[in-house]
Amino acid sequence: FPPCIKAVTVVDALAAEEPFRARGKVLVDAGWQALYAKDKAGQSGDAKQGKDDSVQELPDFQQGESNPHEPSLPQFKTSAPKRFNEATLLQLMETAGKTVTDEALKEALKEKGVGTPATRASIIEVLIQRQYVERKKKNLISTESGRGLISLIQDERLKSPELTGDWEFRLKQMERGEYDPVQFMTEVGDYTREILQCTSAKTVNPANLGACPICNAAVIRGKSAYGCSAWKQGCKFVLSVEQWGLSIQPELAREIFAHKRTLTPHPIEIDGRKLFATLSLDKKGQLGYAEAEVAKKEADQEALGVCPTCGGDIVAGGKAYGCSNWRNGCKFVIWKTMAQREISLEVAQQLLSAGTTETLSGF
Ligand SMILES: [Zn+2]
Ligand SMILES: [Zn+2]
Repeated sequence: FPPCIKAVTVVDALAAEEPFRARGKVLVDAGWQALYAKDKAGQSGDAKQGKDDSVQELPDFQQGESNPHEPSLPQFKTSAPKRFNEATLLQLMETAGKTVTDEALKEALKEKGVGTPATRASIIEVLIQRQYVERKKKNLISTESGRGLISLIQDERLKSPELTGDWEFRLKQMERGEYDPVQFMTEVGDYTREILQCTSAKTVNPANLGACPICNAAVIRGKSAYGCSAWKQGCKFVLSVEQWGLSIQPELAREIFAHKRTLTPHPIEIDGRKLFATLSLDKKGQLGYAEAEVAKKEADQEALGVCPTCGGDIVAGGKAYGCSNWRNGCKFVIWKTMAQREISLEVAQQLLSAGTTETLSGF
């Protein structure tokens, strides 16, 4: 049988001054395809392989011909971006969320990825364990608490994959001795302070921290004290920032002015004695304190040391060495396992007495 001959045609057309291009093939001589005559008309030969325009059959066109056309406007819907699955998420973690097609750039970004090849899969597992993400079929879908967490974090960098990627990069530099760990910690410290300031600045209004306990006018923040904005009218209410060794930050001040007391106990120091107390504000604007009831330690629990936050006793629990004042809100804790290393009783005691340890090997 003779070969099948088709003319490949490209039609450049103009409709209402908009250029259109159609590609297609015109069957010149069916040749061997005559054998398959019954599935002709667009379904024969290579047209079977796909519906794309490049193989559609076109009628004969003449150069410069012009005809009225009935435009067809098929409607499609755009679909939402595909959900991540394990594979696509792992891939994006490699480049800290950047979609990179350039291979060289991808290689450079790998050093700035989130996690390492050994830890990436377990990072996802932890997110699932903490119920920030759930697995549905093959997809990974954020949960309400996951999205809630992200929306709570105000600092954009803190939740960006870039920051994590950048820190991973610097850890690798440290590994190779190209970057000073002290420098890194200084930068992290600066950044942390910056975040804390921004967060409180966003939510606390220093020009109105609450109602004056004496006259109800707005309390404003001064340099070393909070004071009544109606001082020109003669209100003398002033509350020093420093109270019994406790520095009353604007958030706490707002809490005190709103409730006339602190909602949780705070560490203060009276005559050299550290204690845990709730602070209260009376109608004359005087701040008082009431020592919080300290949980009696269990008979068989021996105090390992003094809590650096509140002066309470540190006792050993199941997973951690913690402050016996936890019921009053003291959150001081030393986990028994830190950075995958056991913290022995001796090390915990050493930490509590000196505030630091000899450098531990393996960290
Ligand atoms: Zn006042
Ligand atoms: Zn404590």
